[in-house]
Amino acid sequence: MPNAEIVKARELGFCFGVRRAIQMIEKAATGHNSIVTLGPIVHNRLVVSKLAKMGVKMVNELDQIQGETIAIASHGVSPELLSQLQTQKLRVVDTTCPIVRSAQKAAKKLAKSGFGVVIFGEATHPEVKGLLGWAGNGAIATLDGEGIASFNLPHRLGILSQTTQSHSQFTEFINSIASIVFSHVQELRIINTLCEETQKRQEAALELARKSDLMTVVGGHNSANTQHLAEACSPIVETHLIETAAEIEKNWLSGKQHIGVTAGASTPDEAIEEVVLKLKSFGGGN
Ligand code: SF4
Repeated sequence: MPNAEIVKARELGFCFGVRRAIQMIEKAATGHNSIVTLGPIVHNRLVVSKLAKMGVKMVNELDQIQGETIAIASHGVSPELLSQLQTQKLRVVDTTCPIVRSAQKAAKKLAKSGFGVVIFGEATHPEVKGLLGWAGNGAIATLDGEGIASFNLPHRLGILSQTTQSHSQFTEFINSIASIVFSHVQELRIINTLCEETQKRQEAALELARKSDLMTVVGGHNSANTQHLAEACSPIVETHLIETAAEIEKNWLSGKQHIGVTAGASTPDEAIEEVVLKLKSFGGGN
């Protein structure tokens, strides 16, 4: 399949929040030989292993940390976890993305003003776990509205989103929730906590998918925003989510003339370039 065209999306890869987090940790790692992260700093194994080579260790539980510097990921953490770290007198490098920080502040403000809080997001995602902590007792996280009916609906209800969800899905969610809660709730407040960086990547990916006959989405299999890119492109064109170039299968390119490449916000430039090179070596063109 010679001379197929390979085109990268006009917005792809590292967002400013991830780039900032990695730079902060690299800087901290050069001054301290013992720095740990609680869980992966971003959802990308290549980034985690590159940091590991600089001495940045990853632990999964708080009690595995002993007198070290801890880095908080760009996803942020709950206020409870923050105060636990302070109690343990750990040095904290807080790389929470400013956009996630705004969502945390919005959740806190709603809770303080007496709103029950619903978060549109994946309850098990680290960012959402943190947001739930800021949103106070009784807050819930859901992607499909399940649980809202059994939620002890307060008179005032606030809705916000995990930052990496899509505009269209958040809008759909709000519409469906409004129809459930309007008969119970006197005031419904919606806070737009979506990240524009994520939206730009989604729009650029969709635009490219419409012109392509194959899309490759590069990023961690456990990265929410990478998965959303793949989910958005799949209904339009054959789409494969890959973490590294090694996962590309030559037969995907068979009969394809226009191959699109996009990447999640936690995907390093090197991973994207390796994918482009591999596609070219399999017969992709310029
Ligand atoms: S995707 Fe958006 S919210 Fe998440 S780290 Fe990047 S800039 Fe921040």
